[in-house]
Formats: sequence, structure tokens, C-alpha cells
Amino acid sequence: MAENRAPLVLILLGPPGAGKGTQARMLEEAFGLVQLSTGDLLRAAVAAGTDAGKQAQTVMQAGGLVSDDIVLAILKDRMADPDTSRGVILDGFPRTAGQAEALDVVLDSTGQRVNSVISMEVEDAPMIARVAGRYTCAACGEGYHDEFKQPAKAGVCDKCNGTDFKRRADDNAETAGARLTAYHAQTAPLITYYKGRGVLETVDAMADIASVADAMQTAVKRVMA
Ligand code: AMP
Repeated sequence: MAENRAPLVLILLGPPGAGKGTQARMLEEAFGLVQLSTGDLLRAAVAAGTDAGKQAQTVMQAGGLVSDDIVLAILKDRMADPDTSRGVILDGFPRTAGQAEALDVVLDSTGQRVNSVISMEVEDAPMIARVAGRYTCAACGEGYHDEFKQPAKAGVCDKCNGTDFKRRADDNAETAGARLTAYHAQTAPLITYYKGRGVLETVDAMADIASVADAMQTAVKRVMA
């Protein structure tokens, strides 16, 4: 990687269940980038009971999109943290054309730009089952699934031996359906937007996790070269 370059900005696009979070964590480890998930930031705001969290909570429970103002304020704060100096993986942002434009303005002010957008291509139907059965280790965040990926030893995290697991309130079939609808209506048009800017890569995200990770890392290596 060249020295003194602006921090890399990588965007992961894909519907709920496409594997953005899983792949972002793998890219973090592989390239020293920092995953910024607006969903995680909003869930933290809800848990902390901030004003933004209170406003976001009902919308999130219904599977709709939180207002651009709230999301942007939370994201901007996080992007100013020093650990993002090597680069960021935006997971779940931008989700609307307005957010994409606002992101450009924020990046412009610090001499950055969107370097790469990876669209994780999946079929809709299996996404509901993927989302509805998933849960994570409360200690380290490792992801599991009722049907597709249980820990090797029941009730014990493979990665950190934690025994506490959690499920997101919005990871149920009904809300997942609404989130998928929101994705197609408001977020999928960004694929065309970024394609037009020549920064779009597409990856078949129906493949197994390791194959998807290979394809994603190849794409990231290209932009870091
Ligand atoms: P996620 O963790 O990315 O699946 O996001 C969970 C929920 O947080 C979404 O269903 C939205 O309600 C909200 N959310 C996350 N990111 C955004 C965003 N960029 N814009 C609006 N709402 C968001």
C-alpha cells in the first residue's frame, strides 16, 4: 500500500442477511480497516437511551429506515475517531441517495473519497431464513445461526468460549421482510449510482463464507494496490 494516502473508504452494499457484517469483520482483520456499522451504532444509541436512540428505536423495530439526519450525525462522530485513520468499511451506510450524497460532502471536507463499493449479490427468498435464525456471541460478536452454523460445543462460542449469546430484536421473519422491502426501494438504486462512478464491484454472496471472503479480499487488494 502506498504511503501517506488518504484513509480507504470501502462500502458494502447488500440486503439484510447478505453477510455484510461477517465479511466486514474478516476484511477488518485482513487489512487493518475499521468496520463502521450504522446498525451497530444505532443499537448502541438505543441501549444508551440517547435522544437519537429513542427516536430511532420504533423505526428500527418496524424495519424502516432511520432519518438521514440521525444516521449522519452518528456516523460523522464515529468517523472522527483516530482508529479510522487507515480506512473504514461502511456496513449498512449509505442506504439512501441522500446519504450517498451527504457522504461525499463529508469525505470531500477531509480529502477522502469512496474508493470501492462491493455489491453483495444474493437471492431474496433465503435472506429471510438467514436473518430470522441468526444470533451472536455477546462477548466477541462471532455470528451463529440456528440452522446453518451452531457452535461446535452447544452453548459455547467457538472463538472465545463465551457462553452468553444474543439476538437482535429486529431479526425476525416479519421485520426482515420489511427491511428487505426498504433495501429494494431505497438502497438498491445505489448500485447503479456507484456503477456510474466506476467504483462498483459485484460479488456472488450466495456462495459459502470462505469463497465470498476470497472474492471480497481480491476486490479490496485491487483498490489498495
Ligand atoms: P442493520 O444492522 O444494518 O441491519 O440495521 C438495522 C436497522 O438500523 C435498519 O433496519 C434501520 O432501521 C437502521 N439503520 C441502520 N443503518 C441505517 C442507515 N444507514 N439509514 C437508515 N437506517 C439505518
